[in-house]
Amino acid sequence: MDKEKITEILQGYDKKDITIGTLGGHSALDICSGAKKHNFRTIAVCQRGREKTYAQHYKTRNKKGCIDESLVLERFSDILKEENTKILQKKNTIFIESRYAWVYFERNAMESLALPIFGNRWLLKAEERDERPNQYDFLKRANIRIPEHFKPEDIDRLCIVKAPEAERGYERAFFFVKSYEDYVEKVAMMVKNGKVKEEELRKAVIEEYVLGAQINFNFFYSVVNDEIELMGTDTRRQTNIDGIIRIPADEQIELLKHERASYIETGHIACTVKESLLEKGFDAAEKFVTTLKKEASPGIIGPFALQGAITPENELVVFDVSLRMPGSPGIKATPYTEYLYGKPVSMGERIAMEIRDAIEQNMLEDVIS
Ligand code: AMP
Repeated sequence: MDKEKITEILQGYDKKDITIGTLGGHSALDICSGAKKHNFRTIAVCQRGREKTYAQHYKTRNKKGCIDESLVLERFSDILKEENTKILQKKNTIFIESRYAWVYFERNAMESLALPIFGNRWLLKAEERDERPNQYDFLKRANIRIPEHFKPEDIDRLCIVKAPEAERGYERAFFFVKSYEDYVEKVAMMVKNGKVKEEELRKAVIEEYVLGAQINFNFFYSVVNDEIELMGTDTRRQTNIDGIIRIPADEQIELLKHERASYIETGHIACTVKESLLEKGFDAAEKFVTTLKKEASPGIIGPFALQGAITPENELVVFDVSLRMPGSPGIKATPYTEYLYGKPVSMGERIAMEIRDAIEQNMLEDVIS
């Protein structure tokens, strides 16, 4: 879907009657609750069988709830069908993307969605480590420190191998290696157990394991104000690693003889960083936004996150990037938006504020793709 076509769709919209739409999952409640605060109508596009959260529990009624309407489809990907897109166009829908754009769609399929999407739809694929340019390319060009990467035969320290799971390609089957021999042995075992596919392992990234305090900086780049805002900080909760780290070391050693550690997301913990580290986060964010403006025009629009760890030398090392709405509504519980706005502002609300400002300043075209 090219920008001209999207501009044409947007021109047909009644800007006084915009609906904010998203897929029913991931961060839809945050998006829609934020949108309601700024007087937008909301619609969740749901997949049959998993619509109750939106169509029932958080449905708007009696001054409660935030989902005005649910469009229930057989599959999320049916949103790409013309008949469904038309329904959303008629409601003047601006769409907000989340991680679901990968999990429930063919790679890059959402790029063809015939709706204005808040943010840069062309940039999202850079999250995928096997795309080029990908997040590592952009981080390097921005001169942001990332973990050192290794070829199997060069491994000389504790490394994490980032391979997708054989069954659910969007989930992670990470494992640790400390030498080439160790790598060969573990790969053979993982392939034999059907945990990862051999061809995927060839594409897997092997990177230095950063021994530091993990932290995700969740930012918002406002195109309207040309400013970066820190919306909140958090760390992840992942299964089963979160269970493993809560048992004594001798039990861990026993357990890991027959269980593998897995890193499947279950949620996040809002967690602050000491104030002297904020500038490191902002510095990296500024470099990242500037680089992407040049290298992936129009660059970042709205939410993005730099996820990494702080080393004992007080350095931020970034090992993952998110280029869309985060799935961690708890970041609102950290104090950073209150310092700016005098009250906590969620990422969903910040998006709604930007759309509202863009409408008022006739800049809507600059915040969508
Ligand atoms: P990712 O999906 O790449 O962000 O990684 C998932 C989890 O693996 C992170 O939340 C961290 O716990 C851990 N992790 C990933 N890469 C590294 C790294 N290079 N050093 C330390 N921990 C890492």
